Amino acid sequence: MTSNRKAQKAARVRRLAKKKMAKKRATKPTKAEKYAAKNREALEKAARSGKPAKPAAPAKAGAPAAKAAAPKAATRAAKGAAPQAPAPAAPKPRSSRSITPAKRPDDAPRPVPVTTGPLIGAHVSAAGGTPETPIRAADIGARCFQLFTKQGNRWADREVTADEAAAFRAALAEFPSAAVVAHDSYLINLASPDEELRDRSIASFVGEMERAEALGLLGVVSHPGNYMDDRASGLARNADGIAEALEYVQGNAKLFLETTAGSGTALGATFEEIAAIIARLPASVQGRVGVCLDTCHAYSAGYDLVNDYDGVWARFDDVIGRERLGVLHLNDSKTPFGSRKDRHEQIGDGTLGDAPFRRIMTDPRLALVPKILETPKGDDLVTFDRRALAKLRAWAGEG
Ligand SMILES: [Zn+2]
Ligand SMILES: [Zn+2]
Repeated sequence: MTSNRKAQKAARVRRLAKKKMAKKRATKPTKAEKYAAKNREALEKAARSGKPAKPAAPAKAGAPAAKAAAPKAATRAAKGAAPQAPAPAAPKPRSSRSITPAKRPDDAPRPVPVTTGPLIGAHVSAAGGTPETPIRAADIGARCFQLFTKQGNRWADREVTADEAAAFRAALAEFPSAAVVAHDSYLINLASPDEELRDRSIASFVGEMERAEALGLLGVVSHPGNYMDDRASGLARNADGIAEALEYVQGNAKLFLETTAGSGTALGATFEEIAAIIARLPASVQGRVGVCLDTCHAYSAGYDLVNDYDGVWARFDDVIGRERLGVLHLNDSKTPFGSRKDRHEQIGDGTLGDAPFRRIMTDPRLALVPKILETPKGDDLVTFDRRALAKLRAWAGEG
């Protein structure tokens, strides 16, 4: 046991040394990393959510250009292809990306923060820096929000400076939020069998936790990784990577493991897998780990929130335990029940429809859980979110 711990520590030191090396290296993801990110449907999500996040670099000169002209087919290929397959052409950026305003217009009226009512909010853009986020949350009527503390699909790591932390806290004092969480980078795959990618992922995840700590966030929402080879080994690698990072970054920021839709080799689509990851963590870090349930992912993964709302939560309570539920992602779905796809839709406009969200908004067991939209934003970044939050608020009886 002791020698085992020593070996673990040696491995950690080696990995964290690599973190520094990784910083010096080119920050562009390698082909394999880009592939891994695509396999997790990450870039698409980033583009859809209107973040400054940049889709994978377009194929370099000499790469087959024809593929780039067929983004849908390329995206499908990325999801269906075997892990060993060469990276297909990058998906075409969504049009909303190019018109994402970098900053809130200076003449926009100063928002009045919402400080009562249901604990609802949305993922907001951190364009211009993290101190810009509290006002954006206030602007849409959010009481809680989620942000990226760095670009979600680039390895480039960064540290939160004392000035940034102070500015963020000042902004938050001006526009208070009941809960703020970060979402980790989509490139991170703690479950990868590729040692280099996993080392890089651990280092990057350490950075996520450090930034959350520096900003005083509630925690970091993180998707379990892709196992690539076999599921059990992937779960073990995922849990051990989390343990390593949380042991390294001591503090108050939590990790919220997000339930996934289960596309490809994604782990975490079942409550059992989430529970298995948590169960493997050492007791010393287990208390800092919670769960984020995403309604779109759960429905796609086969949890029928529409026809068996109470049954799904009974299952959650049995397998994971309600006390672990720290965050809810409220997303409707563009795809049918059990599709194993991750395509967010406006609340009420998708295959889930109004009913499960009405239930969630009036469920006293969920009253204290921050509920965060990750639905498509539209061009101005505020209209759709304002509308959705108003709808949820009305359903909660606050409207
Ligand atoms: Zn989510
Ligand atoms: Zn999703």
